[in-house]
Amino acid sequence: MSVRNGSDYIDALGDDRAVYLDGERVRDIRVHPAFRRTVGSFARLYDFQAAPENLELMTFDIGNGRRTNRAWKLPHSYAELVERRRALEAWSSLNCGWLGRSPDHVASTLSAMVMGIDLFERHGPARAKAVLDYYHHARENDLFVSYVIQNPQADRGKTAGEQKNKHLVASVVDEDTAGITVRGAKMLGTSSVMSDELFVANIQPLGRGEEAYALSFALPIGSRGLTLMSRKSYEAEARSSFDYPLSANFDENDAIVYFDDVKVPWERVFVYRDTDMARAQWHDTPMHVYQNYQSQVRLMVKMRFLAGVARRLAETSGLIDMPAVKTKLGELSAEASMVEAFVLAMEAGGAGYGDYFLPSRSLLYAAQVKTQDMYPKAVARLRDLAGGGVIMLPSSVRDFEDPYLRSIIDATQVSPVRDATERVRLFRMAWDAVGSEFASRHVQYEMFYSGASHITTANAYRTFDWGTALHMVDDIEALQGTPPLAQSAPAVPSLIASG
Ligand SMILES: Cc1cc2nc3c(=O)[nH]c(=O)nc-3n(C[C@H](O)[C@H](O)[C@H](O)COP(=O)(O)OP(=O)(O)OC[C@H]3O[C@@H](n4cnc5c(N)ncnc54)[C@H](O)[C@@H]3O)c2cc1C
Repeated sequence: MSVRNGSDYIDALGDDRAVYLDGERVRDIRVHPAFRRTVGSFARLYDFQAAPENLELMTFDIGNGRRTNRAWKLPHSYAELVERRRALEAWSSLNCGWLGRSPDHVASTLSAMVMGIDLFERHGPARAKAVLDYYHHARENDLFVSYVIQNPQADRGKTAGEQKNKHLVASVVDEDTAGITVRGAKMLGTSSVMSDELFVANIQPLGRGEEAYALSFALPIGSRGLTLMSRKSYEAEARSSFDYPLSANFDENDAIVYFDDVKVPWERVFVYRDTDMARAQWHDTPMHVYQNYQSQVRLMVKMRFLAGVARRLAETSGLIDMPAVKTKLGELSAEASMVEAFVLAMEAGGAGYGDYFLPSRSLLYAAQVKTQDMYPKAVARLRDLAGGGVIMLPSSVRDFEDPYLRSIIDATQVSPVRDATERVRLFRMAWDAVGSEFASRHVQYEMFYSGASHITTANAYRTFDWGTALHMVDDIEALQGTPPLAQSAPAVPSLIASG
């Protein structure tokens, strides 16, 4: 049986991808100090699934002697959905939930396109064939696909077509028998620098006359004209895994994606010049739900990790037996359990969709609203527990090398349960989780990855079961009845006067 492993993934990154950082084109992301360790973390996901003891948990048989990750699975029952989630959970646990756009995210999107293939059929048989062919290609090769679906912020009071530069937002500028040519930008590709391919789409509302922006397609990251402008690298600045264990190993990167007249063959075009289809693909198929369900599974893992860090901090500082501290830990553990409860409820409350079984749409949106609000508060709770301990630290691991400084570290980094090195190590990890620039980016990520709050609340409002809620209100109103009719009551002169 063959299955993709870490070295298969790393080998595939040796293309001519145009990644720019600090004013220079990066020659090879696999060895560059801004990316190499996180590339290693993604590679470990593939190595994990390829280990004989994990094959069954992580992969499934797709014939021809190949197995692929369970993220590509289209579940037909509750049991299959749960079996697939266990694989997502196991992968996420390898990075404690810090890799937001791991390969299972967009694999979920593409799988959901297949579950909603009827919609693409109505858009056009050639486009539906492109979806199916691409899904099979990506699934068979177990590709790491990232996506860009949001447009650059620019003037938020205007739509894509109303911006001064008509090609600010990625749009089609030409077409011929081979395919289309795309020019312009998409906002942010998380993990795109390290992925095999990119899925490009539009999720923001488009009106008539904006057909040029109504596109969905996929292409290899190394495609000619595809330019990735990386944000600042936290990995490059993390001096060591001891000092910044999360920044150094899980900086999945975010990049502005620019299409410099990029050619996309028709076989990779899924939505073309149809503004309603650009919207419908997300909300009239399971795409939006299935990809964001994966995000909640990942957040469940991350919240467990944060609860663990909080508990260790309390133990290390000798706070653990104080009732007020237990209350704080109780709040944090309840938040971690809430995310888990949402995941389990989405599955238990799931429903059939044609031949498939999908997580509950309304509970997914409820989870998004609650968790984007919860995450910054959870981080604040951790900061509260940590106090100044996350600042009262040696400048870096190199201070340990100097005997004199080492003696001061041993004398000052005191804990009832840990030695000085262990105490510094823990507080370093805690700072990287809640206070470093990496941590701060994660707060922004959890608040925004699924859309700003006015979008997620609108989705929750749209999908809530108002019928059941209002029915109960109607029942009580019926119980209340109507007041008896007034029987020849005398008229109130002041009311008659005022009309
Ligand atoms: C770390 C990170 C990683 C990301 N990764 C990806 C990725 O991999 N792929 C991708 O496609 N995108 C990605 N994004 C982009 C993400 O999808 C957007 O940030 C998100 O959709 C919100 O859009 P915005 O940033 O333009 O904010 P806006 O929508 O402009 O929101 C900013 C503020 O304005 C308010 N606001 C804006 N419009 C309205 C309105 N009409 N009514 C009321 N309030 C309004 C919002 O509520 C919010 O408070 C990422 C973002 C971050 C921060």
